[in-house]
Amino acid sequence: MTEREVLSNLDLEVLKAAAKKNVRLTFDIIHGRAAFIDLRSRLIHLPQPPKRVTRKRRSSALLYYQNAIQHEIAHALYTTPSIDIGTLMRTKPGIGNILQAIEDGRINRLMTARFHGARLTKRRFERELWHGVELTKTRYVFWRAFGVLSALAEGYTLRRAVSIYKADTLPLIRLLPAKILHKLPKLRSTSEALVLARAIAAIWNLHEAPSRSPSRKRPVGSTQQ
Ligand SMILES: [Zn+2]
Repeated sequence: MTEREVLSNLDLEVLKAAAKKNVRLTFDIIHGRAAFIDLRSRLIHLPQPPKRVTRKRRSSALLYYQNAIQHEIAHALYTTPSIDIGTLMRTKPGIGNILQAIEDGRINRLMTARFHGARLTKRRFERELWHGVELTKTRYVFWRAFGVLSALAEGYTLRRAVSIYKADTLPLIRLLPAKILHKLPKLRSTSEALVLARAIAAIWNLHEAPSRSPSRKRPVGSTQQ
């Protein structure tokens, strides 16, 4: 599978919007890390495509790239670069990780509302590859509660969000006042997301990242443990 193949599979409208923002892509991640964007340089870093794949894994891999690239482009379009989420995740991991979850949901919501192609990709990704998303499977309830926050910020109902990330997340979500739950799907900016992340971290008394990050990425489509 080639980089060219990955690129030719992307939605044209999404690519046009990215080009307007001078977003560029590079396949320079050799192993281990997920895709990410440097918001200052607007360079999206992607894992190198697997050289040899079966037909079935090829379609999964292309879908993984489509979804990952449109997500990183959404950061370029909607995330405020001056709010450095990466640094916050290191210096204030509680707030930083919650912010990342909420911001990811918020930008996915904006992206799929604006681009029909992005919406179709996201739906297909959830249908066909969701099982490969480690966050839905970790036994660490805080990490799955971050997933619920992300899904709520994306516009999912509480019921659906909890069904994806499992019912034991509900007591944590129930600690949050209705005001916060109502605000989550309506966030207008990264700074509003930051205000909410601080409030949630305070309520959950979460200053550090909860133990054992599940974020070590596995190959596309792999199942966990
Ligand atoms: Zn993201």
